Amino acid sequence: MAAVAARLARCGTARALTFGRPRRLHTVYQTAELPETHRMLRETCRDFAEKELVPVAARLDKEHRFPAEQVKKMGGLGLLGMDVPEEYKGAGLDYLAYSIAVEEISRGCASTGVIVSVNNSLYLGPILKFGSEEQKHKWIAPFTSGDKIGCFALSEPGNGSDAGAASTVARLDGDEWVLNGTKAWITNAWDASATVVFATTDKSLKHKGISAFLVPMPTAGLSLGKKEDKLGIRASSTANLIFEDCRIPKANLLGQLGMGFKIAMQTLDAGRIGIASQALGIAQAALDCAVAYAEKRMAFGSPITKLQAVQFKLADMAVALESARLLTWRAAMLKDNGKPFTKEAAMAKLAASEAATAIAHQAIQILGGMGYVTEMPAERHYRDARITEIYEGTSEIQRLVIASQLLKAYRS
Ligand SMILES: Cc1cc2nc3c(=O)[nH]c(=O)nc-3n(C[C@H](O)[C@H](O)[C@H](O)COP(=O)(O)OP(=O)(O)OC[C@H]3O[C@@H](n4cnc5c(N)ncnc54)[C@H](O)[C@@H]3O)c2cc1C
Repeated sequence: MAAVAARLARCGTARALTFGRPRRLHTVYQTAELPETHRMLRETCRDFAEKELVPVAARLDKEHRFPAEQVKKMGGLGLLGMDVPEEYKGAGLDYLAYSIAVEEISRGCASTGVIVSVNNSLYLGPILKFGSEEQKHKWIAPFTSGDKIGCFALSEPGNGSDAGAASTVARLDGDEWVLNGTKAWITNAWDASATVVFATTDKSLKHKGISAFLVPMPTAGLSLGKKEDKLGIRASSTANLIFEDCRIPKANLLGQLGMGFKIAMQTLDAGRIGIASQALGIAQAALDCAVAYAEKRMAFGSPITKLQAVQFKLADMAVALESARLLTWRAAMLKDNGKPFTKEAAMAKLAASEAATAIAHQAIQILGGMGYVTEMPAERHYRDARITEIYEGTSEIQRLVIASQLLKAYRS
């Protein structure tokens, strides 16, 4: 905490903060009010987003440009290793704090939101949970400052939802693993300095024969595919990682042999809280834009906020957003309290991503023609929202996870 406060104080864009000890998180749920620490963090991230992200988000999107300067500043604020203990140069905060930060950052720029989310949940998360002490020092500390970021390579051209069908292989040759295969759709690929990658070490064991590895980038035998030309989140890079006899030291196995599928699934449980939070930020930005426009836009002699049809839309947007936020905070708090949260994270991601898509859609409707052009941010929010229903498990996969957990609970 002290380190984060000091970092926040040093950062020009943030106000100096004094963090108190966080209250037990279940009180948040009882009072629906955030602890002081988290409210201060939210203010800091909101300030940062308004000053550093909102003014450049449209340009970064248009130019497909990685926000290098902003990422460096977020490292200075402690936002790139939020739940990483201070001994590994992290901020030592919790997942509720992480959710709040990702929401605020995504409210300013959804591309920057996913860059933060992938570094925190998908890259640092599994190393923190499954890495050896030596691996934690080597692969975590340099990735919390904003100098380096990481990525997570699970999906392949032939399989996304069916992650257990991985065809990338790793073979032990003396003291080295040799990796061959292609990973698809990898967020941060062009900007990353390392990846957690999943490869089959024993095909006969199917998903129990998958293992996880740590690979530095760039490295011999690993090349990048073209940058995907995407509908939204265009300032974050997405590309294939192509492994051709890529040799890494034996010591780069993460966790135990054959543990890769479990590592991937547990990582995605936590990652879904990050994507739910990204969706909340996009939805909030779309609602903000709709209200600001509707208050000023005149039709039939008065602002359109006087029209009940517009008021009903705004009310439905607010209900969808706030209920998704409560689900997301609940999932984060369960994780923070060491409770199972697989079902709750899937519920949060499903609700928040579908709310973001619906809210961004209605925001365009409220703006009318102005919603359809790039002079206003509504069209970008609409494009950015869509991906939250696809990555880290599609909405269909979230429903499968929720239903299987639900039925298990009924049957036990
Ligand atoms: C911009 C972007 C960034 C991404 N970033 C990453 C990343 O950093 N790392 C990474 O590893 N991956 C990443 N992905 C990949 C992403 O996680 C997959 O695209 C996603 O999991 C879906 O896989 P797929 O595209 O192969 O679709 P498929 O699995 O082929 O699914 C196609 C359709 O079939 C449905 N479907 C599939 N199986 C079932 C089922 N059992 N029941 C019901 N419906 C089903 C799906 O819901 C979907 O509607 C990214 C993707 C994109 C587009």
